[in-house]
Amino acid sequence: AQVVNADFVKSSVRPDDCPRDGLPEFALVGRSNVGKSSLLNSLVRRKRLALTSKKPGKTQCINHFKVNDSWYLVDLPGYGYASAPQEARTNWDEFTRNYFLSRENLVSVFLLIDASIPAKKIDLDYASWLGQNKVPMTLVFTKCDKRRKKKNGGRRPEENVETFQSLIREYFEAAPPWIMTSSVINQGRDEILLHMSQLRNY
Ligand code: GDP
Repeated sequence: AQVVNADFVKSSVRPDDCPRDGLPEFALVGRSNVGKSSLLNSLVRRKRLALTSKKPGKTQCINHFKVNDSWYLVDLPGYGYASAPQEARTNWDEFTRNYFLSRENLVSVFLLIDASIPAKKIDLDYASWLGQNKVPMTLVFTKCDKRRKKKNGGRRPEENVETFQSLIREYFEAAPPWIMTSSVINQGRDEILLHMSQLRNY
């Protein structure tokens, strides 16, 4: 389950513009600053490639990266950007929701959650929306290397992870798969790639 090559394919502004070759894809999404670019970097091991998604004008797009010529990693716009005007925010939300509901080759949404802080409402809402709409989801907890701090509620990453899962459990028929990661100590990378390869073979 290794990444031999990865190439940026295109940025799309509507689900209709996305590649049409039907290859399986996995979408990465999360609150801005959750560590999405760092994770993407560590998955493809190419800093420049992931930076593509951070270029001005690309952060609000659906960015497709083709891996090993056979599947896609998809970088979706981060949500919960405090500085974005409300109207723009609503737009991205709708556009991302359309993508989730219409994209047939979407195998699983990888929802990134910061494990170093207690569960945030916006993340719980996002996860429950996916559950209620039966969009397959994998929880990826980020920043699991961070030690507990008083100002972060004094909880360890493991406690935040457990609480988050119990708060969304009712919205899912089966508990979603979950992976603990850290881009700093390179934790969880192989587990994510293995999980993706298992999902592709179903
Ligand atoms: P994005 O906005 O979701 O793309 O997040 P970035 O990847 O740009 O990361 C946001 C901030 O979190 C940066 O300051 C990163 O250095 C930091 N960060 C990202 N991943 C980790 C991690 O696994 N552990 C720690 N401690 N910090 C991280």
